Amino acid sequence: MSNRSIGLSDQVYDYLVAHSLREPDLLRRLRDETARLTEFANMQIAPEQGQFMALLVQLIDARRCLEIGTFTGYSALAVTLAMPKDGRLVACDVSKEFTDIARRYWKEAGVADRIDLRLQPALKTLDELIAGGDANSFDFIFIDADKENYEGYYERALTLLRPGGMMAIDNVLWNGAVADPKVHDPMTDAIRALNDKVAKDQRVAISLVPIGDGLTLARKLS
Ligand code: CA
Repeated sequence: MSNRSIGLSDQVYDYLVAHSLREPDLLRRLRDETARLTEFANMQIAPEQGQFMALLVQLIDARRCLEIGTFTGYSALAVTLAMPKDGRLVACDVSKEFTDIARRYWKEAGVADRIDLRLQPALKTLDELIAGGDANSFDFIFIDADKENYEGYYERALTLLRPGGMMAIDNVLWNGAVADPKVHDPMTDAIRALNDKVAKDQRVAISLVPIGDGLTLARKLS
């Protein structure tokens, strides 16, 4: 995993950040606090990726977003701040400890009432949303939770997206491990299996963008 874009030299990465990153102070503080959780800090998305996702959300004029894997809330905050005032985000996570940090920053940003945090296994939340009639209703869905369930998240996310809606799947390059045929472990194999499936999936238009740890964009065609 990586919390900066992989495959770039330090010099080029620093240049990229210096010439494009416009990170609000609050997001920077959240990132700094998360970085102090050293054991888990690399679960944080890269700031240039947060900004990229915010731009995507604005491009498609998203009002209804869903996030699978919230951690300390950086991406949820970046995405929610990018939406108009009537934009809402459903956030799925299982950690009260990490999402308590998230809630603190969402409150400070004045968006706490626009983020609906569901603290339970995400598959359960997604199934509840589908059963509740929310299929074909989300504009943007970000998948960044436990890798073993990625295929289950992907299929449900595809159901929940509106036609023309966009999904973003994180960590699809897995620090390069997916490209190394010698590497086999449950997480790497799960990401590899999803990458194989998405590459052939005619239900979506795709692009695998080498930002952060690899981000696949998949637009639902119908
Ligand atoms: Ca991630």
